[in-house]
Amino acid sequence: MIKLHDIELARDKLKHQLNRTPLLVAKSLSNDAREVRLKLETEQPIGAFKIRGASNAISNLNAEQLARGVVCASTGNHGRALAFAANKVGAKATVCMSSLVPENKIRAIAELGADICIHGNSQDQAQEKVDELVRDQGMTEIPPFDHADIIAGQGTIGLEILEDWPDVDTLIIGLSGGGLISGIALVAKSINKNIRVIGVSPKNCAAMAASLKANKPVEIEEKESIADSLGGGIGLNNRYTFELVRKLVDDVVLLEEKQIEAAITHLYLEENLVTEGAGAAGVSLLLEDALSHQLQKPLGKRIAVVISGGNIDEKQLKQIVKKTPPHF
Ligand SMILES: *Cc1c(COP(=O)(O)O)cnc(C)c1O
Repeated sequence: MIKLHDIELARDKLKHQLNRTPLLVAKSLSNDAREVRLKLETEQPIGAFKIRGASNAISNLNAEQLARGVVCASTGNHGRALAFAANKVGAKATVCMSSLVPENKIRAIAELGADICIHGNSQDQAQEKVDELVRDQGMTEIPPFDHADIIAGQGTIGLEILEDWPDVDTLIIGLSGGGLISGIALVAKSINKNIRVIGVSPKNCAAMAASLKANKPVEIEEKESIADSLGGGIGLNNRYTFELVRKLVDDVVLLEEKQIEAAITHLYLEENLVTEGAGAAGVSLLLEDALSHQLQKPLGKRIAVVISGGNIDEKQLKQIVKKTPPHF
C-alpha cells in the first residue's frame, strides 16, 4: 500500500527537477464566508501536473530499464509528461497511438522527443502494441494513473498545498482514473482526517463515479466532454485508485458540460488563467450553487482547487469564452 512516506520520498526526488507551483488566492471566488486558493499546475512544464507522476516513476527505474525505454498509450497529458520526463534523463519514451489521433497531438508528443508508434484504429489496439513492446523489447510501461509511483508523484501536490496553507479544510480535484485525487487525498487524510476531499467529473465520462456506485470497477459508455483529459475508464483490473478513492474521497460531483465551460470562462476573464476543461472543472462547484445538492455537507471556509492543466486549443478557448454568459 502507498503511504505518506512514499509521497514525501517522491517530493524529495522531484524537488530538483520540477517547479513548486503557486497557490494563488482567487479574489473572484472568495467572499466573507470563504477563501478560495488555486493550485496552479498549469505552470508545470507541459502545462499539467502529470509531469510529477511520470518523473517520479522514471526516477525509480534502474539503469537497465532506462536503457530499454518506457512506453505508454496516452495521447494526452500523460503521453506528453512521459515524453518530457524520459527525455530529461536521456531515456527513450515510446508513445503508441491509433491512426485516428489527430496530427497536431502526434506532433506535440514527437516534439518532446518521444518515438511515436501508430498502430490500429482504436485506443485498445494502441494498447496491444504497448503490450507487445513490453513483451518483445523489454520496455517498461508507465500507465497514466493506476501505479504506485504515479500516485505518489501526483500526491506531492497535496504536500505543497498543506505546507502553504496548513488550515485548508476542503480540496476540490478533477477526477478521472483517480491517480491525482488518490495521491492528494492520501496526504490530506494522513495529516488531518477532517480535510474534505471532493472529486469532480464530467457527467459525460464518470467511470469512477459509476464504479463507486457499483462497488467494483465497471466500464461505461462515454460521451465526448470539453474536459477531454477527464475521459477514459478506470480499468476493470484496477489495482490502486478505486480502493483509494472509495476509502479517502468524501464526495464525487458530476458536472454538466456548460458548467465546465462556465468555469473555463470565469478563470479566463476573472483570474487571467488559461485552463483546459479538466483543469477548470473544480471551479464549477464554486460557481453553481445547484451543484451543492450533490454534496453530503456544505463546502468549507478554506477551499483549495487544483487547477490541473492548461492545454486547451486557443480557438476552442475563444469560442467557449464568447458563448458563455458572464457569471455573477
Ligand atoms: C489526467 C488529468 C486529470 C485526471 O487525473 P486522474 O489521475 O486520471 O484522475 C485531471 N486534469 C488533467 C489536466 C489531467 O491531465
